[in-house]
Amino acid sequence: MLPVVSWNRAIAVVGGRRIVIALGVLYVALATGRAFVRIGAGTPLENVLIISLLIAGPGLVLLSVGYRLPTFDIDAEFYETIATWCLVGFGVMASVLVVYSLQPGEVVDDAATILILTALASVAGLAAGIHDGVAKTRTRELETRNRELQFAQTELEETVDRLEEANSQLANSNERLEHYQTYTDHVLNAIHDIFYVLEADGTLQRWNESLCAVTGYSDSDIESMTAAAFVDADDRERVRNAIADGFETGSLQLEAALQTSDGASIPYEFAASRLETPDGEPVIAGIGRDISGRRARERELEQRAQQQQVVADLGQLALETDDIDELMRDATRRVAAVLDNEYCKVLDLDEGSNDLLLRQGVGWDEGLVGNATVSAVETDSQAAYTLANDHPIVVEDLTTESRFSGPELLRSHDVRSGISTIIGPADNPWGILGTHDTDSKSFTDEDVTFVQSVANVLAEAIERQQYQAELEALIVDLEESNERLEQFAYAASHDLQEPLRMVSSYLTLIERRYGDELDEDGHEFLAYAVDGADRMREMIEGLLEYSRVETRGDPFEPVDLEAVLADVRQNLQLKIEAHETEITTGELPHVEGDAGQLRQVFQNLVSNAIEYSGEGPARVHVSAERNGTEWTVSVTDNGIGIEPADQERIFEVFQRLHSREKYDGTGIGLALCERIIERHGGEIWVDSEPGAGSTFSVTLPAVDEELDDRASGVQSA
Ligand code: ADP
Repeated sequence: MLPVVSWNRAIAVVGGRRIVIALGVLYVALATGRAFVRIGAGTPLENVLIISLLIAGPGLVLLSVGYRLPTFDIDAEFYETIATWCLVGFGVMASVLVVYSLQPGEVVDDAATILILTALASVAGLAAGIHDGVAKTRTRELETRNRELQFAQTELEETVDRLEEANSQLANSNERLEHYQTYTDHVLNAIHDIFYVLEADGTLQRWNESLCAVTGYSDSDIESMTAAAFVDADDRERVRNAIADGFETGSLQLEAALQTSDGASIPYEFAASRLETPDGEPVIAGIGRDISGRRARERELEQRAQQQQVVADLGQLALETDDIDELMRDATRRVAAVLDNEYCKVLDLDEGSNDLLLRQGVGWDEGLVGNATVSAVETDSQAAYTLANDHPIVVEDLTTESRFSGPELLRSHDVRSGISTIIGPADNPWGILGTHDTDSKSFTDEDVTFVQSVANVLAEAIERQQYQAELEALIVDLEESNERLEQFAYAASHDLQEPLRMVSSYLTLIERRYGDELDEDGHEFLAYAVDGADRMREMIEGLLEYSRVETRGDPFEPVDLEAVLADVRQNLQLKIEAHETEITTGELPHVEGDAGQLRQVFQNLVSNAIEYSGEGPARVHVSAERNGTEWTVSVTDNGIGIEPADQERIFEVFQRLHSREKYDGTGIGLALCERIIERHGGEIWVDSEPGAGSTFSVTLPAVDEELDDRASGVQSA
């Protein structure tokens, strides 16, 4: 192997083409050189020429082919192969000649023959080499071509793959698009929204399936209809105007009731915008949405508001009226109206007879209200069933009702549905509030709550009325008993005056007739008896006056307290002087009252203020202050004051804090003041500190300023 490799390398180093050319040059040079030698040696020219041509011819072929090799269709890489073939031709011939010379006596020693044969063999080698080079070049080209083809095929395959992928993506997106369209169609149809494109004359250019589905018209029906034809005849003008407006302003907003082919009416809301078709024609395109749900909710809210209003109004009426039947009448009328029921009733339970009287109601046949009764215990009665339960009873359809069959009152009025609830507490019911209709109906929870609320208003009003009646009865009782007491006090004090007068006159008679016969003790005892009788008279007179405050008083009128005080000063003139009293007054108002009784009150208060002034000159101040509709009038002194513990009891009859020896009096003055002030609807109280004086205050009703200005004598209760 090694020699072949090194041979090939040697050829590669020298260069295939050079070797061929060199071989050609060698044979031409040898032929030329030999020719000159032979001609010099006298060899005939023809011989020399023939031999030289036979040697130089192949040499020239080698030379010219070697020189022109690049013009052959042979890759330069294979020139070495050509050179190898030349050398192999040369070598094979040389070997043949050597082998030939091995024959005894047969030596090829003629140089010309050797040169001719090796030159020809070299040319033959060249031909084979060229053939081989061409073949190899072809093979190489084919291989290259093949590789290129393979590469192109791979590329093609990849492209095909990519195309397939793109194709499948396209198919996918197509599928998605189809899916999307199906989906949107499905959604649009499912939500019942209507799509439409309107032309300027109101005809429909395009619409979706929903329009057919909702209205019941076919596509061909719709083709010949205008938008206005889908609404009620009365509403068409408005719809036409709205569409015209939409074309003008660019947008359309409209609510209208869509009339279906079978005569139903569905509220719809339309919203659309003006667009232009590709031909430049203006159209209105938009959607219409079913708003019956929203409308139903609005109605529901409205009904709730109405129900609340009814409850509020009835609550107000319950406060204003004393007539419970008027309230019940109003309640039944309004409950029936709000629930759109034919009947409503208030049943009044009579526990004794176990009957419920139809006390008030609406819708019932003439003559039944106030007379008809329903059993409170029988099993067919809805009312009885309601009483037995502590919650409202709702009937949707009496014909299929299993809890009760319905009493005569309901059956005779074709009642099928209703709500009934207890009025008053379940354990002590007053009656039943029921509302009914001739249609089968399902009532909402809010309806039931509403009926229950009205029943509660009635229950409260009934309870209040019962309470009021009890209170009034109590007041009547109290007034009667008060009157009896007043009569008793009056009679007692009046009748006591007579025997007392007798005692006094006989005591005077004893003193006058037997005065001389009595010793000092006798006089003293007699004086005590006279004094006791006087005191008793004063007390009886006070009591008499006290008992007459209500019955003998004058009607109220505006009273000028300045004038009252002036009278008081005059009446107490002596006492004022005796106690060196200084009386000051603020500005005093007009009050509503009994002038005589008010004079009595202020005379008592000022008199006490002077009486209990203690040592030194008395200082009395009278003032007034307004609080809203009443005046507080106060009498203040600088006197002895009152212990807190005594400040209440001094207003009781005959209650005194001091002995008669120290301070004169009967103990009826303040009790009388309190009674008079109470008759005026006011109050009396004292603020005092022992040793620091007292302030007695009374409240009295102010005079309406207008009346006050006129100082008229208008009577006021
Ligand atoms: P009397 O006839 O005893 O004055 P009143 O009912 O007027 O009867 O008074 C009851 C008692 O209240 C008096 O006895 C006195 O003790 C006390 N009192 C009344 N007014 C005053 C006052 N301005 N200052 C101190 N004590 C008073």
